[in-house]
Amino acid sequence: MRWLLSPLRELWTDFLDLLFPPSRRCPLCGAAAEGGEVCHRCQEMISAYRLQVGCTCCGCFLGAAGSRDDPGRTSGGAHAAPVTAAAGPPGPTGRGGTPSPDLLCPHCRERYPPFSAARAVGLYEGLLKESILRLKFRRERWLARPLGRLLAAIAEEMVPAGTHPLVVPVPLSRKRLQARGFNQAECLARELSLSLGWPLLPVLRKVRETPPQTGLPRSARLSNLSGSFALAGDIPPGTVAVLVDDVITTGSTARECTRTLLAAGVVAVYVVTLAGPLCSRGSTEGDTGDPLF
Ligand SMILES: [Zn+2]
Ligand SMILES: [Zn+2]
Repeated sequence: MRWLLSPLRELWTDFLDLLFPPSRRCPLCGAAAEGGEVCHRCQEMISAYRLQVGCTCCGCFLGAAGSRDDPGRTSGGAHAAPVTAAAGPPGPTGRGGTPSPDLLCPHCRERYPPFSAARAVGLYEGLLKESILRLKFRRERWLARPLGRLLAAIAEEMVPAGTHPLVVPVPLSRKRLQARGFNQAECLARELSLSLGWPLLPVLRKVRETPPQTGLPRSARLSNLSGSFALAGDIPPGTVAVLVDDVITTGSTARECTRTLLAAGVVAVYVVTLAGPLCSRGSTEGDTGDPLF
């Protein structure tokens, strides 16, 4: 199959180039950048968060430990004291490819998530937040390519070497999909899939409309989503899945999607998102941390 996938991937890339001609500017800051990739400065600014202390399970940013001056940072501060893991599966590879200490945030310590690990490219703020809003609400779908490549970099780092996972986007409800016309998570997942050569399998469906997560207490968010996802096809036995979304805040959506995949025989789920929260945000905000979602 590999001999067939590669030409198909090139064809698809050529087709996208025709539809969305590559820019010579950085999609985040607009500075000149070869090939329209995220420029070096933005890459550094975003990845600075990944070098900070984060929960080894859900990847939320535990605070400002080890932080550096950063022009994109609009909020911050230490909000949660890291705690040593007492239970749960071994932590995955840490950010930046270096082993991180075995740290869990209070939420993961209280209730270990069903997914193996979750990682975000950066915090939901600044240029990264702006680019997500442009993709979703200004319909700048061309952004999915450079942003999807950022996702691919962290996915490759997180998934154990030698694994050949399937890429599964978090679905939108039918109503939301009709209103927006596209699922941003699927656009990002497609780019990640093309970038790494991992097959895309949009196998999840949102089968039940759910009230907005915003404003619900944390405990109510999980029951709000319970039973709202279903499988719309078969998954090969023994599959490892990479679940893709644009933003993760409390992780309720990721938890529920993971449960659905595990119930279908998937052996492990890794979650990658563009933006993640500071740990303390997850306890007070809606599932996506923004009433717009
Ligand atoms: Zn830039
Ligand atoms: Zn956590």
